[in-house]
Amino acid sequence: MAGRLLSIGECMVELMQAEGDLLRKGYAGDTFNTAYYARLFLPRDWSVDYLTAVGTDTVSDEMLAFIGKTGVGTSTIRRVEGRSPGLYMIHLTDGERSFSYWRSVSAAKTLADDASHLRTAIEASDIIVFSGITLAILAPSAVETLLSELRRAKAAGKHVVFDPNIRPRLWDDKAYMRETVSAGARASSLVMPSFDDEQAHFGDADIAATIARYRGLGVDNVVVKDGPKGVTLSFGDTPLQFVPSANVEKIVDTTSAGDSFNGAFLARYAVDGDATAAARFAAEAAATVIQHHGALVSRDKFEASL
Ligand code: ADP
Repeated sequence: MAGRLLSIGECMVELMQAEGDLLRKGYAGDTFNTAYYARLFLPRDWSVDYLTAVGTDTVSDEMLAFIGKTGVGTSTIRRVEGRSPGLYMIHLTDGERSFSYWRSVSAAKTLADDASHLRTAIEASDIIVFSGITLAILAPSAVETLLSELRRAKAAGKHVVFDPNIRPRLWDDKAYMRETVSAGARASSLVMPSFDDEQAHFGDADIAATIARYRGLGVDNVVVKDGPKGVTLSFGDTPLQFVPSANVEKIVDTTSAGDSFNGAFLARYAVDGDATAAARFAAEAAATVIQHHGALVSRDKFEASL
């Protein structure tokens, strides 16, 4: 294998309104979506694995089968007796989406309970991806277990990639949220935030302020996403680079825009280390994703050139 990308977090059961009262079942979650797009765009000699915890029930079996079918490896997924995956429902009211969640006792909350399992999986990987949602679902002691393994990986020279993906409803205490997101960044070599979240929750005046804050925490590489406008990259000692978003005629569904950007970016960056080219590629990929329904868009919807 040329390399291995490991994504750590929570994949949930998704129930979406179909016809009338019927619901359609799917599976999604930010870090899983990122793994899905990394798998789609990485060469076959890379492996992509997902690390989470699920139960031993039927829906957990189904979720593992689904993940496996996408080509994302499931051997690092823990199975926990007596727990089930988290679940969310998408409600469509006059074209507007709203969400209900049942995830307070999800199996994924135990994903960092076995430190030696985490260490083995991380040591066998070159790129490790996690998010603010991964941290938000964990108890403070589990956050510390995960971050100490990630700090170890960063010190060993691995790429540790963090998308703060701030979801205020997952954090009861906003000061603890900011502290934990900052701790996540300190454990990382690359942070990929969305500017609107950072502005809202850290009060950053502009993108330069977001970059300066993360660089000040010891993060060597930052990619700030700014929706339709584009992304700004601060990589090592190279001057700031701006890469515009691709043109989109008609937005169909913006679900997973940021996750697909991250996955596509990492897939390209892993291969040749050219961050600017990777951002251009990821902008094209994310533009395709938002012109289709759902979080996980199939390979045939992308230009053959991607
Ligand atoms: P998130 O979904 O995490 O909030 P953004 O909204 O910043 O992330 O979008 C992530 C990426 O998706 C952007 O960097 C851009 O490449 C693409 N994107 C999002 N919205 C648009 C849009 N309206 N037109 C073109 N590209 C877009």
